[in-house]
Amino acid sequence: MIAAYIPTRDSNRITCHLVVNAALRLLADSGADVSAPNVHSDTPLHVAARQGHYPCVIILLARGARTDIENSAGELPVEVCRGDCQSAISLNMQLALSVRDCTKRFKLITSDISNGHETYPIPCVNEIDDSAPEPFTYVTRHVMPTRIAVDNTLPTMQGCNCTGTDCSASACSCAAVSVRRWRGGGGRLLPSFPYHEPPMIFECNYTCGCRLSHCTNTTITKLTNLGATFVRTVVFKRRRGGWGLRAARALLRGAPAAAYIGELLPADEADTRTMDQYMFGLHLKPTHIEQCVEKTQLCVDAAVYGSAARFINHSCRPNLAPVRVFTNTRDLRLPTITLFATRDIAANEELTFDYGDKFWSVKSKLFKCECGEPECRYPTVTQDDSKSETVEN
Ligand SMILES: [Zn+2]
Ligand SMILES: [Zn+2]
Ligand SMILES: [Zn+2]
Repeated sequence: MIAAYIPTRDSNRITCHLVVNAALRLLADSGADVSAPNVHSDTPLHVAARQGHYPCVIILLARGARTDIENSAGELPVEVCRGDCQSAISLNMQLALSVRDCTKRFKLITSDISNGHETYPIPCVNEIDDSAPEPFTYVTRHVMPTRIAVDNTLPTMQGCNCTGTDCSASACSCAAVSVRRWRGGGGRLLPSFPYHEPPMIFECNYTCGCRLSHCTNTTITKLTNLGATFVRTVVFKRRRGGWGLRAARALLRGAPAAAYIGELLPADEADTRTMDQYMFGLHLKPTHIEQCVEKTQLCVDAAVYGSAARFINHSCRPNLAPVRVFTNTRDLRLPTITLFATRDIAANEELTFDYGDKFWSVKSKLFKCECGEPECRYPTVTQDDSKSETVEN
């Protein structure tokens, strides 16, 4: 239509271009494949570029014509032209590459790996490759494949006789059996908490005389009612291999970050499981197990059922420490393993804890420590390159 208003006596070539452009627009807008090759396996972009039809090249590129198809001579569209057409196609190829890189860098595998079980959604991202974590079922409370008797009798529960909300160390028997009340400002552990040899923490429970909803001797009781991961986190693919969990926001020292949740198993049953890299042994001291009605040691296996803590890797210089916290049971075999921040943690920092000598005494033959810290205490990949297995926790 535009061509009709243009003098054509000496401008047949221009008219021809405009007609072709209009036809191309119509074709592209009708949903036709703008990259469909002809019998010589030239795509429309090859043809337009070779003939120097710059407006056609632009229209084809704008409609998503592919720049990566070779013709029968093995030529890309960018290789059959010069000048403006070549510049336009070349720029388009660079843009396409950078967009592809961006997409890969921020690949979101799922917006919430907890499937809505946590207060804060836990995105899972892969900035390294196209893999995804092995499937598992997200749980925020332990599941039991077989029945385990939990001792919740009154003599075991030992609720305090406090009234009101002030369960301070001097008056509260719950705080006293924890050595002292450890809850500090903001629900975080006091700065003096000994993470290297943590005492067991007994929070007030439903048998206590205090007003539990406002009791000052709790750190995780209310949090565990809402989920098992208490701060904003992201599951991510690590450059060193395997998956990890990182903080999405900064954490302050003493903050409860997550509870290690999974299948609760008697230790002898746990020993029969071949895939045990997500196993957390609760290893109760002999003097403590003597105080229990049931004497079986328990383990938590987060391989098939687990919370986000299953993604937390080992480090010899960790920023979290596991602490045994008792909330609605005081069966000593069954603490809630809670990972507290041992120092201030920056946003995007990977969360780690020390798996401990017991883990490494068994696993050092199979895994090498990859923490990369100067103070690394366990065998590393570089010390024995012949074994290249990784801790993919
Ligand atoms: Zn009390
Ligand atoms: Zn109490
Ligand atoms: Zn209390």
